[in-house]
Amino acid sequence: LMQLSIPLNFIGSIYREIRQGLTDIEAMFDLLSVSAEVEDRPGAQPLTVTQGTIRFEDVRFGYDPDRQILKGISFEVPAGRSIAIVGPSGAGKSTISRLLFRFYDVGSGRITIDGQDISRVTQKSVRSVIGIVPQDTVLFNDTIAYNIRYGRIDASEAEVQRAADLAQIGDFIKSLPHGFQSMVGERGLKLSGGEKQRVAVARTILKAPPILVLDEATSALDTHTEKDIQSALDLVSKNRTTLTIAHRLSTVISADEIIVLKAGVIVERGSHADLLGQNGLYAEMWTMQREATEAEEALRRAREAD
Ligand code: ATP
Repeated sequence: LMQLSIPLNFIGSIYREIRQGLTDIEAMFDLLSVSAEVEDRPGAQPLTVTQGTIRFEDVRFGYDPDRQILKGISFEVPAGRSIAIVGPSGAGKSTISRLLFRFYDVGSGRITIDGQDISRVTQKSVRSVIGIVPQDTVLFNDTIAYNIRYGRIDASEAEVQRAADLAQIGDFIKSLPHGFQSMVGERGLKLSGGEKQRVAVARTILKAPPILVLDEATSALDTHTEKDIQSALDLVSKNRTTLTIAHRLSTVISADEIIVLKAGVIVERGSHADLLGQNGLYAEMWTMQREATEAEEALRRAREAD
């Protein structure tokens, strides 16, 4: 029996290893399984990005044919500009970023990058020009250097370190006993949400994509972490066309345009000041969030004073 149990255990651990690897990759690409739904047309050419202008033209889409999620979405993000998408949970914000990444093709209307319909070019080329900083970054069970270099596998050690510094995580890494060679992920060092996000920012800095999609964490970060992440993100989004699924006031305020989405429809749009002036859904959300932030801060100060 002993003899039998050893190889079985061994197989078990290999199985777990493979499963873990798969889970990482699936989570990393979020919806890898559905990407099979999107097929390139025969003879599709790669996208050529000159500027990085994004356009949504009357985009309609539903995951299921009997339930429309996006009901005629139109907007443009000029090259190098930023747009923030806000709105209640389930409004369709992340769906917009999934369509841009071409996880799915639109039901009707079209999405273009520099005038080219993204459903007519190769999906691989679309994904290669877009960098995503997801809400919850999944780390590989490998070194932190590997996890950052994933953004561009031929990056040198010096480039990896520079990217980490720019993402405001370099000092933290250097303070670890094994530095950049520290193992992270499920079986290594567990990083906080903010640290993981900065690893994702470092990855994106290495990839240097013309278009950036930021999916901000919904969970509250402390003000200090938020400021660090924000300055890292500001840096990476500078001169890049940026679409942010926004939850934080700081991002929203600095966006060139804000789109307020509700049940798949754009209900308000404009700058922060415009929207506050309209006294509608945005103004209401903003007041609520500000109050929540202030309450959190007060609570934290009270705890610190104890
Ligand atoms: P949140 O702020 O909560 O992240 P969101 O505005 O980003 O919400 P989406 O993730 O775009 O919302 O989802 C919009 C709607 O689409 C939701 O009602 C959701 O249930 C539905 N949906 C999302 N993904 C799928 C899917 N893979 N299959 C079917 N329905 C989906």
